[in-house]
Amino acid sequence: MDRRPVYLDYNATTPLHPVVKDTMIADLDLYANASSMHEAGRRARARVEASRAAVALLVGAGADPEQIIFTSGGSESNNTVFATMFHLGRKGPRKGIVTTAIEHPCVLNSARWLQSEGFPVTFVGVDDHGRINLDELQAAVGSDTLLVSVMAANNEIGTIQDMAAVSRIAKAAGAWLHTDATQAVGKIPVDVDSWGVDYLTMSCHKLYGPKGIGALYLRKGAPLEPLIRGGHQEHGHRAGTYNNIGIFGFGTAAELALAELPAYAARVTALRNRLRDGIAQKIPKARINGHPVTVLPNTLNVSFPGAEGESILLYLDLAGIHVSTGSACASGSLEPSHVLLATGVGPELAHGSIRFSLGRDTTEAEIDYVLQQLPPIIARLRAMSTIEA
Ligand SMILES: *Cc1c(COP(=O)(O)O)cnc(C)c1O
Repeated sequence: MDRRPVYLDYNATTPLHPVVKDTMIADLDLYANASSMHEAGRRARARVEASRAAVALLVGAGADPEQIIFTSGGSESNNTVFATMFHLGRKGPRKGIVTTAIEHPCVLNSARWLQSEGFPVTFVGVDDHGRINLDELQAAVGSDTLLVSVMAANNEIGTIQDMAAVSRIAKAAGAWLHTDATQAVGKIPVDVDSWGVDYLTMSCHKLYGPKGIGALYLRKGAPLEPLIRGGHQEHGHRAGTYNNIGIFGFGTAAELALAELPAYAARVTALRNRLRDGIAQKIPKARINGHPVTVLPNTLNVSFPGAEGESILLYLDLAGIHVSTGSACASGSLEPSHVLLATGVGPELAHGSIRFSLGRDTTEAEIDYVLQQLPPIIARLRAMSTIEA
């Protein structure tokens, strides 16, 4: 096999799709301010609006492209929703925020911020497979609930939530419903109407587009308080000169993601299953985390008892294989993954977890290379370890 690194960290970020790269390079000189009224400005604006339509179509909002607001990414989209709830909650009777224990840090920390501002916040638990406990959600949501925020698919373990069921509970209580769909968009079909969501977050760099550009879908009638005030861009929802090149890249990435989704899903599912089955066969006591079926097609999270995640990662890195641990490095100390802990994996096992996330460039030869390199690494670490395998 060739010597390029085996990149299995697509849930962290993705390379540019070659077609996205080509269109971005071709449009690099379209620098005009998309709010300018002259010909070049209008041309840039037309491209911005075409991208907005492509992004809307990707999430089932093709009839309402104006309900898509461009942001700088997933973190900003999520923060905008929580900031909106801050303003609503201060003025109105409802203040309750209900989210899950396995959200991305930009949702978790936004929820904690509201908690510190005196909002009642509930972090609903998940089962062993990372599926939200719907009875617990039902019990947490009531007439004082302002927002329910449930991620569509988890970045660490890939578990997909039943958004329609979540929506029934949120809507019966009259709460707004937000979903962080950053990992879902481009990997599984996404539909704002059948999911019944009011706000949906996405990020372009997770779907083979550039970094620093994302979007928020906003259902007609759902309130929004700008996080960034200034000019009248995005109907006053988000000020700042249009990020032409990022938005153009997002449009192309969205079109491609929609067109390629069935083939992509079939391909990465087969490769992911090959990796999963190979690990199960070759490495004793490996434990697959996340849902066995209702899971992103590209994601595989595995705990290796008796081996430590960061050590596995470093040895794989030496072999030219790029993965992530199940741990997040929080304020300099290695905390076990809050997602794995929430699924009932103990701290020791959570520390020995690796996330393999595959993508459109992953090959069978690369998977077989991992299956050749990984077992001796685990065996060596287990032999050195004081932790019981
Ligand atoms: C990557 C990611 C984000 C953050 O998106 P950025 O564009 O990097 O800010 C938010 N939520 C989830 C689930 C993610 O995977």
